[in-house]
Formats: sequence, structure tokens, C-alpha cells
Amino acid sequence: MANTVLRFLRRTSPGAGWPWLFPRLAFVLFAGAVFGLFWLTERSDREEQRATLISDVLWLEQDLRFHLSRNEERLGQIHAREAGNSVLFDNLARVLLANGTGLRQILWVDAAGRLRRALPAPTEDYQVGEAVGIIPSAETFSLARSLGKPAYGPAYPIVGGDWQFEVHVPVFENGVLTGMSVGAYSVGAILDSAVPWWLAERYRIQIRDNTATLLGSRSKVSAEVREGEYQIPFEPPGRGISIHATPYRTPPSPAGRMLSVAVAVLAILVVVSFWTLRRHVQGRLAAEQALRTEHQFRKAMEDSVDTGLRARDLEGRITYVNPAFCRLVGWSSEELVGRAPPMPYWAEDEIEQIRTIHDSILSGLGPESGFEIRLRHRDGHVFWALIHESPLIDENGRQTGWMGSVIDISERKRMEELARQHQERVQASARLVAMGEMASSIAHEINQPLAAIASYNTGCLNLLKAGTVDVEGLVGALGKSVEQAQRAGRIIRRIYGFVRRSEPRSEPVAVMEFVDEAISMTRADAARQGVRLEVDATADLPVLNGDQVLLAQALFNLLRNAVEATRDQGGAEAVVAIGVRRTADGVEVAVADRGGGIPAETGPKLFEPFYTTKSEGMGMGLNITRSIIESHRGRLWFEANPGGGSIFRFCIPEGS
Ligand code: ADP
Repeated sequence: MANTVLRFLRRTSPGAGWPWLFPRLAFVLFAGAVFGLFWLTERSDREEQRATLISDVLWLEQDLRFHLSRNEERLGQIHAREAGNSVLFDNLARVLLANGTGLRQILWVDAAGRLRRALPAPTEDYQVGEAVGIIPSAETFSLARSLGKPAYGPAYPIVGGDWQFEVHVPVFENGVLTGMSVGAYSVGAILDSAVPWWLAERYRIQIRDNTATLLGSRSKVSAEVREGEYQIPFEPPGRGISIHATPYRTPPSPAGRMLSVAVAVLAILVVVSFWTLRRHVQGRLAAEQALRTEHQFRKAMEDSVDTGLRARDLEGRITYVNPAFCRLVGWSSEELVGRAPPMPYWAEDEIEQIRTIHDSILSGLGPESGFEIRLRHRDGHVFWALIHESPLIDENGRQTGWMGSVIDISERKRMEELARQHQERVQASARLVAMGEMASSIAHEINQPLAAIASYNTGCLNLLKAGTVDVEGLVGALGKSVEQAQRAGRIIRRIYGFVRRSEPRSEPVAVMEFVDEAISMTRADAARQGVRLEVDATADLPVLNGDQVLLAQALFNLLRNAVEATRDQGGAEAVVAIGVRRTADGVEVAVADRGGGIPAETGPKLFEPFYTTKSEGMGMGLNITRSIIESHRGRLWFEANPGGGSIFRFCIPEGS
């Protein structure tokens, strides 16, 4: 039992420890107190009943003793004289027999031991006469006579299963024994008449001799006795006869039974409620444990990712940041949570731009594919961050804020910048390489002004030598010569600047000026190849901002390619058409030829440096042209000419 209680107390449930000991202890104490109370009540009841039993039996014994003593007295009052008178004796005896003390028969025996009279008269149950050991017992008679006082004989069975004992009371007159009054008691009659009803209701009363032989009993048939017999010697008559009283099992009182049932029900209720509570708490503890595990798992995930996570409410106030975010910006979670814009990690020079993005996100119009901004670490260094924002939806489907993932892309940006610089260097070297090719063609171009200068000068010399100086002609020829020399100088300077990667010039350029310059650079060559150049230009052309020489060079490259393609093709349609038109934001120039066109597979490679299909080509023309156009914020592309050949187009915005 004690072990069970200890096991019950020690049993632990998941997550529960000492807290469970107290209710368990309280429950054990409560159960112990209830059972103790029952036990004590029961014990005190038993003790009380035992005390009552003892006092009742003592009382019975006293009562019987009193009756027997009184009967002794009365029997002693019968004198020989009265015994000799039958009527008188009968009357006296009848009174005694009727007093309800268990006397069954009264006899008078003379001093010699002979039976003289009896009431009721002897039947075959009694043998009257001298015989010893039979009624009246000679042995008892002798004892009483020798003692000179009443003596009781042993109990002996009589008819009807009853037992009987005798009292012999010697009667003396003037000191001489005159006779003996003998009273015969029936044990059954004593029990029936001398035991009061209330005693018989409570106990089974039995009279036994010293061999435990049952001499008589008064008991209820239906009732069941219980433990706790009490016995007391029956004096007189003595001789080992004793009175035994055994209490009957009494049904508990309705109130007591109700109380027991109530306590039992209460105890069951306590057990059930304790058990239910325990199960409930265990369930909750298990759920809590599962939740804690889940939470720890998620927290571990959030803590271990390299991506910064930041949650904001609908007002833009920070509600959560993960360690990665704190590491990115150098501010702790405690410092950031609850902060409203502007945030301490916004780069000062971009606060307005970030605020605009921030506001557009809060109004649900943020860029879906994420955005790149510069943020400032607490230590002052600025880094590039790629931010993706998505709505934070709670379990009811309501948006409660915004969740943002922040990735440091400074390294990527650095690599991009490196790649760009590398590309620039590649282009610069490509330009240098192109210079070789360009130098030859430019040398060819410069040849033209040089040849022109030479021929103008030769003309002048011839005029001077001939002595026919035509001043006007001389001035005109020298002027043209100067013009050609200046043009050659300009070409060289621009090319020199371009190769040095200096920024292109930015000055107003009339579109037709660089177009005409390119055409004039091409014309002689085209004519030599039998290719005609046709120009179709609209009148409303804008003035661009840029470098005329470079733009002319770009168009020249396109024209040269077109002329070469047309020449290679041969045929009647040896025309290169130049279209110049105004667009919404600038100008578009198209160079259309009727050459062999550009096969689809070579299209993507066309602008790559050193791509050429010509034996003497360098493959740098288109690459340089695109660089020039793009440095003017323009765009270069090509398309197939519907009538055969290709069309190269470029557009340049007006404000370039
Ligand atoms: P190159 O003229 O030195 O070959 P380019 O960069 O100018 O270098 O041209 C690259 C290649 O593009 C040419 O070799 C040629 O195959 C092709 N190409 C350029 N323009 C035309 C054109 N108008 N028609 C057909 N092919 C062309």
C-alpha cells in the first residue's frame, strides 16, 4: 500500500515535476483522512458497543444472581411444618414458580434425603426416591447439608433438549436440619424469562458449561452474529457454567449509510476530477511541448539563414527582425523593433528615394520583383541590398503587415562593376585594335584631303609658275586647301580622343551635318565601286547634343559596310539608301542596301569585336559604331530589307 502511494507520488508526467507532487500529496492526504475517519469512527463504535456489551452482560449476571439469591431466601423460608401441609406448600411453591426466574419445580426433601413433596408433581422425567445422582441429587443434598447453606448442583440434560440444575437450601429449626428445599431451574426458562427483551434483541445469549457444551441459548433466527463474544461466569450456580453474549450484526443507520455513500461518491469525484485534470494538463503540456519544439525549430531556421528577415506592421513599424538582418545593419533587435521610418539604416543621401519605395510598398504598389537600394551599416559603411517585400497574412486571411527579405548584394555589385570595368578595358583595347583598321581607312580618308590639298597646291603652283596669277582662283584654291587640312586635323584629333577613351564631345550637332560628312567620306569610294548613295531626309530634323566627328564616323562605318555588301552583290540595283527622319524623342538614321543580307545565324555575332566575313576586314566597325551610338544614349540595330539586303538603323535621343 505504502509502495503504491509512493509510486503514485513519484510518477511524473511530460514536463511536470514537483508541481504535480502537491495535488498528489493533497489527494493522498485527503484519501488517508477520509479512510482514517472511517476507521476511527468504526473503531470507536466497536469499542462503545463492546463497553455496552460488557455492561449489559454484567447487568444480566447481576440480575440473575439477584433472582437466584432471592429464590434461595424464599426456598429457605419453607419449613418442615409448611412442607408437611400440602396445600400450604403448594401455595408457597406456586408463588415461587410464578415469579419468572426460571424455577421449574420445587421439591421438599426431609433431613434423611427422602423426597416428600414436589410441585409440579414428578413425572417420568424425574425419578423420585433414594437413588443417587438423580433428582434431587443426593450429592448436592449432601453438600448443602454439610455446608449448612444453599448449594447448587451440576447442570444435566432433561427432556426437550433443555438443561437443568438444582439449588438445595437446607432448612434448620433450632439448629437442627429439618429438611431441604430444592429448586430446579431450567436453563431454557431462565433465558426465556429472566433475559429482558431488549437484551435479547441486541445479543445472542448462551449458557455453556466448562466443556463448552451448550446448555441453552436465546437467539434470533434471522439475525447474524458478529465477532466479539463476551463471557462471564454464571455464579451461582457456578461449576464452570458461564453466560456468553455475542452481539448481532446491526445494519448501519440510513444516515450513516448515506454519509458513507456521500463520502465514497465524493472520493470518486475527486479521483475522477483529478484524473480528468491531469489528462487535460498533460494534453496541454504535450501541446505546449510540441509548440515549443516547433517554435524552436522555426527560430533556429530564422536564426541560421543568411537572409535578413524583417517584418513590419501596416504603419511601417518594425515588428520583427532576425539575427541575419541585425548583422547586416549593425543594430540590435531591441533597438529596431518598434521603430518607425525613417530607419537608422537608411543611407542619408537616399532617404527620399527609400521613403518613396517604402510608401509605395505600404500602399501595395511595391516592385514585385524586388528592388535594390543602398543601406547604411551602423559603423557607417554603405552596402547594396536586394529587398523583396511580400504581404504578411495572418490565419484569418487578414493582412497584418509586410515581410521583407534583405540580401547583401554588395559583392555581386562589386563583381558587376569589375565586369563592367573589364568590359570597358576590353572595348578600349578593341578600340585600339580597331585603330589599326581605322587608321588604314582614316589614312585613306586623310589621303583624300591630303590629295585635294596637294592638287590645290599644285594648281596654285602651276598658276604661279605660269605667271598667270588669278588671285581669285588662287584664294579659292588655297581656301579649299586650308579647309581640307583643317578637316584632316579634326578627324585625327577626334580619333585620338576616342582611342584615349576620353568622353565624346557634347556640343550641338545638326543632324544633316554629320550625315553629309559621312556621305562625303564615302562618296568617292562608293563611286569607285559603282554604288550610288541616295539620301532621303525630312526637314524637321532636330539638333542633337554630341560629337559630330564620331557620329559621322559611325554612319561612315555603316555606309562603308553597305557599299561593300552592295558591291559584292553587283547587279543594277547598286544603290545605298540613307533615310533620316525625326522620331518622337530624337532622330533615326537608316542605311539600306540591296546586298546579300545577313544570315540569321550570324546576326547575334555581328556586333562582337573581330567578327568579320571579309578577308581584309577587322570586324571592329560595327562594334565601334555601336559604342559611339550608345555613348550618345542611342541604339543600333539591323533588320532585313524587304526588297533584299539589310537595313541598319540607329536612333539618338534629342537631349543626348
Ligand atoms: P568588317 O567590315 O571589318 O568585316 P564590321 O564590324 O563592320 O567589320 O562588320 C562585320 C561583319 O558584318 C562583316 O564582315 C559583314 O559580314 C557583316 N556586315 C556588316 N554590314 C553588312 C551589310 N550591310 N550587309 C551584309 N553584311 C554586313
